[in-house]
Parts: sequence; structure tokens; C-alpha cells
Amino acid sequence: MASSSATPALAGSSPQPDNKGVQPRTVAIIGGGIAGLVCALRLAEAGRQVTLIEATDQLGGLGGTSDHDGRTFEKFYHCMLPTDGPLLDLLSDLGLRDEVYWKPTTFGYASGATIFPLNKALDLLKFAPLGFADRIRVGLTGLQGRRISSEGLDDITAVEWLTKLSGRKAFEVFWKPMLQAKFGDRYEAVPALWFWSRFNREKGDKKGEVKGYIRGGYRRIAEIIGNRITSLGGSVRLRERMVMLDLDRAGRPLVVTSRGEASYDQVVITTPWQGIDRTLGANLRRALPPLDMNIDYQGVTNCLLFLRRPLSPHYWVATPESTYPFDGVIETSNLTEETDRGARHVVYLTKYMHRDDPRFREDEDLLSIEWWVALKKLFPDLRDQDLERRQVFRAPFVEPLYTTGYNGRRPPEELVAGRVFLSNTAQVYPTVTSWNGSVTQAIKTLEHVLVNC
Ligand SMILES: Cc1cc2nc3c(=O)[nH]c(=O)nc-3n(C[C@H](O)[C@H](O)[C@H](O)COP(=O)(O)OP(=O)(O)OC[C@H]3O[C@@H](n4cnc5c(N)ncnc54)[C@H](O)[C@@H]3O)c2cc1C
Repeated sequence: MASSSATPALAGSSPQPDNKGVQPRTVAIIGGGIAGLVCALRLAEAGRQVTLIEATDQLGGLGGTSDHDGRTFEKFYHCMLPTDGPLLDLLSDLGLRDEVYWKPTTFGYASGATIFPLNKALDLLKFAPLGFADRIRVGLTGLQGRRISSEGLDDITAVEWLTKLSGRKAFEVFWKPMLQAKFGDRYEAVPALWFWSRFNREKGDKKGEVKGYIRGGYRRIAEIIGNRITSLGGSVRLRERMVMLDLDRAGRPLVVTSRGEASYDQVVITTPWQGIDRTLGANLRRALPPLDMNIDYQGVTNCLLFLRRPLSPHYWVATPESTYPFDGVIETSNLTEETDRGARHVVYLTKYMHRDDPRFREDEDLLSIEWWVALKKLFPDLRDQDLERRQVFRAPFVEPLYTTGYNGRRPPEELVAGRVFLSNTAQVYPTVTSWNGSVTQAIKTLEHVLVNC
């Protein structure tokens, strides 16, 4: 397990001279999510003296975990896709690739008292919430979305694009719930390019959708990377928040944290874009290129349920009707093995909502009771005695709220030449934010860091 250090500045092993007698360059990485972990690992492997600074008490960021009955569970449902190449390559490098298991998974759509399976062309043809002509248009939209070029799609909204391809009714019933499942009530401005990319990330092969999970859960990945960083002489500092980032008199990044301050040769920021603005010191502000600092984020609330019985055969059931306070029911135990979860069944109820939404601050007990009551309407044979435990988790900065023309506002990898770098979720667009997206972005950012030897 990666340890935290009590020493404020430049903790960890002393910088070791390299074989030319030159001190390795010092790099601070801010944030211990998967992006920060990959940056710190690769830089430590390249001989840099790395300090990873993470505000919370654990590594893994949004893939972080909570303990229940001697096991760990992600606070927010997580799985891999066979198309997650850079993440799977990372796991190979860590010796974990064979620890990923794959299973066919299915999707359902709740309408009234019925859950319609939506996995094969035939399912779509039988999808009663839509008229027959609309079902055909939705099917054709899916095919077209996978085949057409992405050109021009950053400049029109997904609402316009999908409505044009499928028609208003089909958009409302079929596509809108999918946008809302990621952006909540902020879906209207999202560019078509984002949806196009989603079509292409999640396409299964002819055999249908397959998802993957790692034995031991996502905590295992974060811990192994953390341990590697420390074994390479790097320092992993938990419970330490960066409060200010500036440039010192020599133009070196100056990192002020809750425990002290230190200058480094380079810094890589991996925290969400929202909030970075507040931490920038005057010297750094002057050195920055023009940037859009107002990229807002959508937050999420998840209610994690441990059940004594399964709910449905589906990994994901969309619940778009307003009778449900959540947008989806994700039954991860349809993917995970008993060795990872015990005999219990694991379900996440999810709702993307902005941190300014009053529901984001709703009392956790009240919210979990309200959501449980709503779930029992969808599954009328569900009983209170079927519930082992429920827990609420919230994250304010999950999904950047993209608007048309986002490609022109996407923050660059190098913020101050040779000194200050960025690898965060505001950059993964148009791909869906994911561990794979953050690993891919980290690799791109590292190309900029590593040329500055
Ligand atoms: C509900 C939900 C479901 C998801 N499902 C999936 C899925 O199935 N598959 C998948 O691959 N991905 C999934 N994701 C997305 C995935 O978790 C994220 O895209 C990914 O974890 C982002 O990693 P990151 O390192 O870029 O950022 P983050 O995970 O946000 O890491 C940033 C880190 O910076 C730290 N930090 C912030 N401010 C400071 C500061 N001032 N000082 C020091 N540290 C700071 C934070 O504590 C955090 O650890 C899901 C996310 C959510 C919320």
C-alpha cells in the first residue's frame, strides 16, 4: 500500500544522481486518480524524482473504493470495455492483464411496469415505447453513427444531430435518456461529436456487448501503481491538498499544499479543471496562455445497494421516467464474480446532477430511503429484508459540461513551456471520461513532459 508522508516539503527518498552525476529533475504530480498515477509512474520510470500529492486518504480518484464486510467496492460503478486499449496495455505492463475477466452484459429500458431488453436488432424492432417507423429510424441512426465521419460534429449539438437522424419522438424516448444518464439536465448543449464518440467506444462486436472487471477491484490497480512509484524512489503523499500553484523567482513551479510548500522543476496537474483557477498564483497567471477557465462540470450521486437477491439479468436498466429519482439501475454483480463481492448482489442507482442542484445536498438517509422506495416500484417483489446495506456517494466534478465548439476551448497539455503541464478530464473530449480516457490523456501529456529533459 502506498504510504503518506508526514514531512511537508520534498518528502520521499532524496534525489539520486543519475549515471552522469546529474540530479534527476523533480516533478510534482497533483492528484492521485488514474491520470496522476500513470504520470507519476512513467516519470519515475524515466528517472525523475516524483512527488504525488493527493488530497484524500486513498489513490484512485473517481475509481476510489469503500469497504463493506471485509471487501472493497467502487463508490461509483466501474467496468472496462474491450476497446480500452491503453488501459489494458497498462494492466499488461503491471502484470494484471490476465486478472481482468470479461462477461457478456445486457441493457434494459424501463417503461411503465416493463423492462424492455435492448441488445439486438430484434429487441429494437419489438421496442413498444416507440412506433415501428421510429424503431427503424433509431436502428439506422445507430448504424450511421458508427459509420460516418466526425467532421463538423463538434459544431452542432447532439440534440440537433440525433433529432435530425431519428426524429423528435425517437430522440425524446430513446436518445435523450442516454444523454441525461451522463449530463442530467445539462444535456442540451453537448456537441454531437461526444455522442458520436460514444457510439464508437461502446460498440460491441456481432456477439454483443462485453464488459470487463479486474479481480480484486480497481483499488488493486491504484495500489500496485502506488507501490511501484514508491519502489522507484518516488513519494506518494495522501491527505495533502494543493492550495496554490505559482512560479517562484527562478520561474520554477511552486506548489503550496496543506502541509507546506516546495519548488519543483516541473508540475503536472491532474485535478479537475473546475477549481484550478482559484489556486493560481499571480506569477503563474501571467505566464499562462489565454485559457477558458470556465469549463463547468456535472456532478453525480450514486446510491450503492448491497442486496440479498438479484434484481434483473441486466448490467444497466435505464429508468428515464420522472417517477424515478435516478436515471439508471446498474447491477454490477451481473458482471463481477462472487470472489469479488461475496454472495451478495451489488446495485448502483445513479443520477447525474450539478453541485448547485439542491438534490446534490439532500440528506443522505432521506435520499437513500426515497430512492429505495422508487426502486421497489420498479421491482414490486423487492422487500426491505432483501437489503443488506445502502450507502450514498457523491462527486461534484465528474463530466465536463461540453458545449459546441469545445475542441477550440480544450485546455492544452503544456500550460507553461517546460514547466507546468496538464492531464485531466477536461481534455479527454470527445471520448467519454473513463479510466481509459485518462490513461490515454496521460500518455499524450507525458510526451510533452518528457521532451523537456
Ligand atoms: C458514476 C461514475 C461511473 C463511472 N463509470 C466508469 C466506468 O464504468 N469505467 C471507467 O473507465 N470509468 C468510469 N468512470 C469515470 C472515471 O472514474 C473517471 O473518468 C476517471 O477516474 C478520471 O480519472 P482522473 O485521474 O483523470 O481524475 P480523478 O479521478 O477525478 O482524479 C483527480 C484526483 O485529484 C485529487 N485532487 C483534487 N483536487 C486536489 C488538490 N487540490 N490537491 C490534491 N489532490 C486533489 C482528487 O482527490 C482525485 O483523487 C465513472 C465515473 C463515475 C463518477
